[in-house]
Amino acid sequence: MRAAIFNGPKDITVGDRPDPVIEEPTDAVVRVVLACVCGSDLWYYRGESAHGIGSIGHEFIGVVADTGSEVTGVRPGDLVVAPFIYSDMSCPHCRNGATLSCVKGGSFGNGTIDGGQGEAVRVPLAGTTLVPVPGTGHSDGTLKSLLTLSDVMSTGHHAAVCGGVREGGTVAVVGDGAVGLCAVLASKRLGAERVIALSGQPGRQRLARHFGATHVVAARGHEANEAVLELTGGIGVDAALECVGTQQSIETAAAIARPGSTIGIIGVPHGTVPFNETFFRDIGWRGGPAPARIYIPQLLGDVLAGTIDPGLVLDFETDLDGTPDAYAAMDDRRAIKSLIRVGSL
Ligand SMILES: [Zn+2]
Repeated sequence: MRAAIFNGPKDITVGDRPDPVIEEPTDAVVRVVLACVCGSDLWYYRGESAHGIGSIGHEFIGVVADTGSEVTGVRPGDLVVAPFIYSDMSCPHCRNGATLSCVKGGSFGNGTIDGGQGEAVRVPLAGTTLVPVPGTGHSDGTLKSLLTLSDVMSTGHHAAVCGGVREGGTVAVVGDGAVGLCAVLASKRLGAERVIALSGQPGRQRLARHFGATHVVAARGHEANEAVLELTGGIGVDAALECVGTQQSIETAAAIARPGSTIGIIGVPHGTVPFNETFFRDIGWRGGPAPARIYIPQLLGDVLAGTIDPGLVLDFETDLDGTPDAYAAMDDRRAIKSLIRVGSL
């Protein structure tokens, strides 16, 4: 099969990988329909995080082509959403909601295990990993939004859950990447009354407003902190959602969180959390990779009903052969997030 191959920083090619087959009775083979490039893929692309040589991509939806003898819950022909990791959903970590630590789990597209940026994927623990999508004849827009449940929308939702976003609250989202924009949408969905999006880019500001942002702060750094504090009468926000992971965004989240709040932090940290600084304001930090497998069924109904449309973050598209450009577009910030059309339904 054809698949994207990570050869090293700034070096993604599309080449041949072995056709996936059922190796374990709990496996399924999924024919990929849509895939996309994650902000975390960019860290590998830029050489800022290590990545195995080989398969890449962990966000995809597709159609089940084959299942092993012990797979229940999904059948050949099902349209499925894959969370960005596979998990058994029965070990102590999964039962406690920390699916990333599943004792039998693993990551798609880590160099060795098939990635979503390819024609097909062998999915281990398929029955507990894949989420079947009910109904038929879904629009292209719906399919794109379903794809975002794989990671980016589930991650934005996780930021809001970790930050304790609730009805009537004031939220600030630090970061206008795809995850930050999804965090705006998730905050609105959870009933936040005021959602402040920190973004200096007009296109991203517009999408943030479409997703429910009531205020936009274009400044960065100290000026941004002052602007948010001014909007909240000097108190700070009920939920600061850190959706980037850089030192500056972490420090902004710390500065604008109100005393007694919890900061939702889901940007892969490439900086240090200033815990000593927030300690005396009774501020907590909570976050990490999202348990997407738990969130997908919770968010699926809103996507199918059209009440949320997170697929709008996918503002650049190409086919599998265009995968290198899908990365470059995000690296150059020409794209918020790149869609890769791999196969048909
Ligand atoms: Zn588990």
